[in-house]
Amino acid sequence: MKSKHLDSICVHSGIDNYEFGPVVPPIYQTSTFKFESTEHGASLFKGEQKGHIYTRMSNPTIEAMENAVAALEGGHKALGCASGMAAIHTVFTSLLKAGDHVICSKAVYGPTVTLLRTVFSKFDIRTDFIDTTDLSEIEKHITDTTRVIYIESPANPTLDISDLEAISVIKDRIGAKLVVDNTFMSPALQQPLNFGVDIVLHSMTKFLNGHADVVAGIIVVKDEKTYQDMRKVLNQTGGVIDPFNSFLVHRGIKTLALRMEKHSQNAKILAEYLESSPYVKWVRYPGLKSHPQYETGKKQHRNDGGMIAFELRGGFKAGETVMNNVHFFQLAVSLGGVESLIQHPASMTHFSMGPEARMEAGISEGLVRVSVGIENVEDMIEDIEQAFAKIEMPQKIIA
Ligand SMILES: *Cc1c(COP(=O)(O)O)cnc(C)c1O
Repeated sequence: MKSKHLDSICVHSGIDNYEFGPVVPPIYQTSTFKFESTEHGASLFKGEQKGHIYTRMSNPTIEAMENAVAALEGGHKALGCASGMAAIHTVFTSLLKAGDHVICSKAVYGPTVTLLRTVFSKFDIRTDFIDTTDLSEIEKHITDTTRVIYIESPANPTLDISDLEAISVIKDRIGAKLVVDNTFMSPALQQPLNFGVDIVLHSMTKFLNGHADVVAGIIVVKDEKTYQDMRKVLNQTGGVIDPFNSFLVHRGIKTLALRMEKHSQNAKILAEYLESSPYVKWVRYPGLKSHPQYETGKKQHRNDGGMIAFELRGGFKAGETVMNNVHFFQLAVSLGGVESLIQHPASMTHFSMGPEARMEAGISEGLVRVSVGIENVEDMIEDIEQAFAKIEMPQKIIA
């Protein structure tokens, strides 16, 4: 029986009938599949019969996971990729040609910017990185050749929220495709296809898998034609996921709804604590009324998610102090796993950029990003509290 409830879809989706009746899809760890005859092989290649040929093209374990994510996003079909970046690359390669123009959120995962700036620019594809929370900014940058509007919402690391429904109206008018990176929310909390978005993608490395032990990505599409076109590109460029990682992600998905609820519950408490702390200048969390796009978030999100960004009053030095004194939080990049992670871009991932380039990219010196896990939130607050106490601050700032 098919359920319309997300928590049930998480547990049941993508499960087919397999030999011996296993309740989970077996891991078909094979590169290739036998044909019964030359006729059989020929008909598979022609697509006249259902079946598998070669794992770069399709594989039952991969297909099971793809069907699960497609069901969760309310899409037609999905394409499993070797990483989130492979998914992003596949989408751009499929949708764009030389001379085309892309509008992309300014606040977006760093390597997405680099991919557009350094790889796609070589093929005469131009991108404007703009504030997509401001519809007039989008209107201002539309050209005759705008083919793709690419949005990350909530965005990395600022948690900016773009209005997907409103942007969808714009893309329909100009005949462009609207692509959304839904990594931060996962389909449990946000289903962009419901707001008119054409293509959704994920780094499954994060919340979808949820256990920090897989690198993988996925693309979800709404119609068969787009699916076939992208499948061809993915098949030629080769950035496919493998059966074992598909199995792990599919396993992770069973608890997605449950995990996202706990991530959100913990993050809300931690965000409120941070907002009341004298060491903190501001907090960005979709569940706080102080978020500039709080209302848009309420419209788009089922809950508020597990990602928090905040700015320390003490700048770079304070950031360093907190990073070196947390014990419960683990100092690491990435996000979306069951364990809480903390990172300070200015002293870690973006240190080599230097302060000026960081400023230009909107990465302030005291910006801290937290991926709130599913542990007990009291442990998190206690850890942050003792690390904050080590910050040296002039008394007048605290007052
Ligand atoms: C991590 C991440 C990516 C890239 O995914 P990989 O699996 O690391 O290739 C893309 N977008 C967002 C928002 C991410 O957090």
